[in-house]
Amino acid sequence: MNYDLIVVGTSFASSFFLKKYLEKSSEGAKVLVLERGALEPQQTRIEKARSTPYGQVNYVTNTSTGPTYINTNPDKPWIFDPSFGGSSNCWTGCTPRFMPVDFKLKTSCGVGMDWPISYDELEPYYCETENIMSISGPEQTPYPMSRPYPLPAHQLNAVDRILHDQYKEQYISQPTARASQKGKRMACCGSSICHLCPVGAKFTIENGLMSIYSDPRVTLHYNAQVISLDIQGGSAKGVVAISNGASKIFKGDAIALGSNAIFNAHILLNSGDSNQHTGHNLSEQVGYYGYAHLNGLDNVGGSTIITANGFMLYDHDKRNEAAGCLIESHNDLFVRAEPGKWRKIAKFKFVFEDIPQYHNSIVRKANEQLPVIEYKGHSDYVKKGYNYMKTKISSLLSKLPIEDIFIDENAQASESHILGTTRMSKDAETGVIDKHLIHHNYRNVFVLGGSTFPTISPANPTLTLSALSLWAADSNF
Ligand SMILES: Cc1cc2nc3c(=O)[nH]c(=O)nc-3n(C[C@H](O)[C@H](O)[C@H](O)COP(=O)(O)OP(=O)(O)OC[C@H]3O[C@@H](n4cnc5c(N)ncnc54)[C@H](O)[C@@H]3O)c2cc1C
Repeated sequence: MNYDLIVVGTSFASSFFLKKYLEKSSEGAKVLVLERGALEPQQTRIEKARSTPYGQVNYVTNTSTGPTYINTNPDKPWIFDPSFGGSSNCWTGCTPRFMPVDFKLKTSCGVGMDWPISYDELEPYYCETENIMSISGPEQTPYPMSRPYPLPAHQLNAVDRILHDQYKEQYISQPTARASQKGKRMACCGSSICHLCPVGAKFTIENGLMSIYSDPRVTLHYNAQVISLDIQGGSAKGVVAISNGASKIFKGDAIALGSNAIFNAHILLNSGDSNQHTGHNLSEQVGYYGYAHLNGLDNVGGSTIITANGFMLYDHDKRNEAAGCLIESHNDLFVRAEPGKWRKIAKFKFVFEDIPQYHNSIVRKANEQLPVIEYKGHSDYVKKGYNYMKTKISSLLSKLPIEDIFIDENAQASESHILGTTRMSKDAETGVIDKHLIHHNYRNVFVLGGSTFPTISPANPTLTLSALSLWAADSNF
């Protein structure tokens, strides 16, 4: 069998691409989807978690195939779910858009590089993605929108209301795939166990896009790990995969890699890709928590785990040397340990972008099933952004009745975003794929997901990478 399209992976990057491809292709089209894991329905996950302390799930090893990569830096975990639906199963569902300036960081701030695609080109696909995910969000946003969010905004908490009154569209109810009201899904229960989402309020591939996998044109193989592309004469004739324990070649006219920034790069390296950027620039945002004790104000009332996003430090005037920061207002279950003051506290997360570093990379060693991750650390740009935030935070929060502020100087080990290893660029000298997400050298290979990002922005990546998948399939079929 020769397929028209072979898709690798079943999470956001692959599923949004496949959805658009099926809309645009004929009834006779033949698509093969290869997924390294199995389908573990949400109900099964919830039942398993009931017998685990605190309902914890070990995402990285949540697969029958065991470890999925070799990590040379044990202080830096890379978190994802290698099964059907990928990390849509366990993500939190925060979906702000990138700002227009994020697509031209070099031109605007003199750092990183410009994307070959602009905000305006992606804007219609942002709208379409928000519609598919049924995003809840506010009427006012710091980025331009040609269509309102499908669902109303989540309720702000008491602290957010003060900050929103002060900063207007710079401090908004967080756009999110956790439904604010019953519609396509149930409304968010606000119990802050989003990695499981016990009420099915959060968009996942299972609850939102499962129908594309039962399309008669699509054949889906579970437990099929793609190892490499079958490259002949400069183009891909198919893929090599280990399927239920045996090595097999599947033939196809076009290949779409949606296996995340670790495995997209590794599959290309296993295929002999010699582009100097393939596997490099592995990046992630860096998050720090901060707490404000409040005098006489009970911080109650928000309707979901993260109620707001603040953009006051996002595109600041020192972004040429210090990272931009997205502020998250956290509304999960935390109290102040003093009688009568339990909820007189605000909790924020400050999430910084980084400038991708060439030496942070995915490396191919002898074992072609296990990529090696060599991550030396994030750049000084992050630390400078953090220091800049500390100089500004008291005045930024001055409308709150603050007793004291504590900023944790220890960064979180992971933001669970894996980015940058096959970046898009205008040519093969500066990146791996073009603006339509096609490999510069292998012109029938699409590379999808966060690996395509040339710079990483302070905002969460999944809405943008899903919109890019729609754009790529729409532009090419
Ligand atoms: C706990 C957690 C919380 C998060 N919260 C947010 C959030 O609030 N907002 C946000 O924007 N992002 C969030 N993320 C990140 C988000 O989940 C990822 O950006 C997103 O899942 C990336 O989608 P993807 O399709 O590129 O890859 P993945 O979701 O990583 O999926 C990759 C898919 O490919 C399959 N695969 C991998 N290798 C192979 C292979 N060799 N052969 C065949 N199949 C393969 C995997 O099994 C999987 O199906 C979170 C992530 C985690 C883990």
